Amino acid sequence: AIYPGSFDPITNGHIDLIKRASKLFDTVIIGITQNSKKPAFLDINDRLESAKTALIDINNIKVMSFDTLLVDFAETQNVQIILRGLRAVSDFEYEFQLSGMNKHLNPTIETLFMTPAEQYANISSSLVREILSLGGDISAFVPSNVENLLKEKI
Ligand code: ADP
Repeated sequence: AIYPGSFDPITNGHIDLIKRASKLFDTVIIGITQNSKKPAFLDINDRLESAKTALIDINNIKVMSFDTLLVDFAETQNVQIILRGLRAVSDFEYEFQLSGMNKHLNPTIETLFMTPAEQYANISSSLVREILSLGGDISAFVPSNVENLLKEKI
């Protein structure tokens, strides 16, 4: 399966989902988008390297970046499953639209949704960036290597 996203930065919520997925699939590819429409806070190399470090204990994952259509990336990796996370009803509309478009672009690829453990359901990369920029404590939301990197960047 491929778990795509901007991971700007990777959070404990993402990591919880990846741990769960790694038990269900032979290999989970964490696909980090290079050309998201959102301007990135961390550059692609920082996002790649910090995700690799944060996920070092999980054996059956690969962290990669891509700058093509997601369905094309999945096809080149020989993957038929896209994984996305749902935190709350508010995620649903966007995710539903995205999965519908991806299904239209390549009907052989399925999108599966997973939910995180309750304590991670309120974590988002954008809130982590906002709390950081206002001097708040982000240690409960991201792994320590990511916290250190973010503090260096600000
Ligand atoms: P994108 O910019 O593509 O939305 P993100 O990096 O923000 O990518 O998130 C990737 C995926 O992980 C999305 O499906 C998002 O809904 C999901 N996600 C983000 N944070 C969490 C979390 N705390 N728990 C579960 N899923 C999450």
